[in-house]
Amino acid sequence: MAKRDYYEVLGVSKTATADEIKKAYRKKAIQYHPDKNPGDKEAEEKFKEAAEAYEVLSDEKKRAQYDQFGHAGVSGAAGGGFQSGGMSMEDIFSQFGDIFGGHFGGFGGFGGFSGFGGSSSRGKRVHRGNDLRVKVKLTLAEIATGVEKKIKVKKMVPCSHCNGTGAASGSSMETCSNCHGTGRVTRVQQTILGAMQTQTECSVCGGEGQIIKDKCPYCGGEGVVKAEEIISINIPAGVMEGMQLQMSGKGNAARRGGVNGDLLILIEEEPHPDLVRDENDLIYNLLLSVPTATLGGQVEVPTVTGKAKITIAPGTQPGKVLRLRGKGLPSVNSYGTGDLLINIGVYIPEKLNREEKKLMEQLATSENMSPNATDKRNFFSNFKNMFR
Ligand SMILES: [Zn+2]
Ligand SMILES: [Zn+2]
Repeated sequence: MAKRDYYEVLGVSKTATADEIKKAYRKKAIQYHPDKNPGDKEAEEKFKEAAEAYEVLSDEKKRAQYDQFGHAGVSGAAGGGFQSGGMSMEDIFSQFGDIFGGHFGGFGGFGGFSGFGGSSSRGKRVHRGNDLRVKVKLTLAEIATGVEKKIKVKKMVPCSHCNGTGAASGSSMETCSNCHGTGRVTRVQQTILGAMQTQTECSVCGGEGQIIKDKCPYCGGEGVVKAEEIISINIPAGVMEGMQLQMSGKGNAARRGGVNGDLLILIEEEPHPDLVRDENDLIYNLLLSVPTATLGGQVEVPTVTGKAKITIAPGTQPGKVLRLRGKGLPSVNSYGTGDLLINIGVYIPEKLNREEKKLMEQLATSENMSPNATDKRNFFSNFKNMFR
């Protein structure tokens, strides 16, 4: 939906003074205030629209940016962090102190506004357990195949004596007389906008609507107790350092039969002694001796699950990369498997004994030991992506 011009929203001219803008917004805020228009979606939109327009036009810097660039000037990075359209009701009401002066000073209770905000503003309160966070350290071999990890966690579990209800055995629940079981109480307050109704959580029953007569002595009426539990986690193949897995409902149990929190599993990767990971590929740096690189031969290289034998062709140059297809790590989305890349270097000996030195000197005069122009070009083409 295209955004309306902010000046048009407030019904002021482009040259309006700060005072005129403030007055115009005040009028709109009173007109479209949700408590004056209960259940009216259109009024709610207008209320938010006006708040957003005021947020921008009341700020000299934002207004200048808006005048110059329009809506693009005040959304995202250009707006200095201000996200237009992203105002919550809390934001809007916190703005009111400034607009309506001291009159709204004692009006902090707007958070529980009827019909707005989170789930807690409607109906009875349902407790939710806290999420539980654990770290799991994995080797590349475990990542390659996927693994089941059993970990011991300390968490809140339902109290077995009261089955999580928090009530002592034989004790019944009774409806809260303060809120008549609704969990909420309505207050009427006189404000400059006239009489306004606000709903807040019932303080007697904590918003639950019911009160326990006799609390369970084992959990003190909470319905949950601390315990140690062994949790079995199936880690899929291909996970990566920093990834977070989520097991719904495996976190802390909630008070008195609410909704469990989640178990969040942070993946850590143990470095492999030989292999370096690059997404789903693995890299192994293989250093050949001069004779092996020259004559060729069989060489053993480590893989994530064991070892592999590879054939080195005679005349293998340093910088060459051999690719063992499918010997990398599986993609966590199960789209194929990476490769093992063998990055070849050739070791030039730094110390020679007298005999070796003599052999080298003999080779030095031999015609095939010196590269020609084509050899040179071919050799450095291996590095063409590194040096231009
Ligand atoms: Zn209990
Ligand atoms: Zn109550």
